[in-house]
Amino acid sequence: MDELLSIGDFAAECGLSPKMLRSYAAAGLLAPAAVDSSTGYRYYSTGQLHQARVIALLRRAEVPVEAIGRFFDDPDNDQLDRWEQQISEESTGRRQALAEARAALALGPTASPPRRSDASPSSKRGEEMSLTFTTGTATARGRRDTNEDAMVVNGAFCAIADGIGGLQNGEVASALALETINAAFAKDSTIAGLLRACAQANDALQRSTDGDATLGTTVTALAGTDDLGLVVVNVGDSRLYRLRGGRLELLTRDHTVTADMVREHELNAEDAESHPHRKVLSRAVGVGTTVEVDYSGVQRRPGDRFLLCTDGLYDSLSFDDLKAALAPDSSPQQSADQLVAQALAKDPEDNLTAVVID
Ligand code: MN
Repeated sequence: MDELLSIGDFAAECGLSPKMLRSYAAAGLLAPAAVDSSTGYRYYSTGQLHQARVIALLRRAEVPVEAIGRFFDDPDNDQLDRWEQQISEESTGRRQALAEARAALALGPTASPPRRSDASPSSKRGEEMSLTFTTGTATARGRRDTNEDAMVVNGAFCAIADGIGGLQNGEVASALALETINAAFAKDSTIAGLLRACAQANDALQRSTDGDATLGTTVTALAGTDDLGLVVVNVGDSRLYRLRGGRLELLTRDHTVTADMVREHELNAEDAESHPHRKVLSRAVGVGTTVEVDYSGVQRRPGDRFLLCTDGLYDSLSFDDLKAALAPDSSPQQSADQLVAQALAKDPEDNLTAVVID
């Protein structure tokens, strides 16, 4: 025989407050087993404790009270699966919004997304829509047997990747990463879409990894996004430079063990150049279950020229060589060809790739 408990005792047993119990009863959920007709006191039976505890747990999962009521009319596992799915979608949506907020903060107020109500055709939006790249590309395998660098040029999206791992793996990794990012960014050309594309490339490489053969690659991309204009994303030690008014600037930071140490003031830049771990990457796409991607907005002016290049290229040439080859009197293709030809003349051990963008 079930024992009757006062609302206070019952509340203490099941983890719901008396106030909640009263409001649930008003909504037709978990009605008291007995009500004293003279005092109005409510009593719950010990047999109701199990249901009350399940209700408390569903409320903690933020399932609405009405939905819980319907659930108890016909409890089934499918409904639990649907709630789980819903929670996972909500949390993905919240994480995405947070990523976009993080990106917007990093890019600053000048790059804020245009308001939809902005009817002016000369708005920043119109300008971003017309963002076009004029590009030149060149790549070579140097002294290696294969070229494990990859590149993609697709409208206002340019990317390079330097595959790691040797043998065929490097080639597979760099090509797969860029194919994945290019396809995903074509579908969603926002900053969030670009970051998601990088995460998808990481997943694709992780899935393709068989046995001990780890797939990994650097990725550096310059992209015109629909919402935040020109953006660079970077993982690894491939680079983006900008030539503006005769000045060459490096816009990315390398993710190598030594570059990280220099940033942390554990190593000075001079010693880093001869350090044995100089070429060891501290970050790469595909080597972990998730990947941290550097991204930032890129300010641009008419006449700016950009260079995406792998380490094989920038290791072979001096800063002044890079600057001279990028001189604005040559076309992007002429610049790319010149950069690779000059680097090849140094008989480099590594693959080299240059994408020049106006
Ligand atoms: Mn390389």
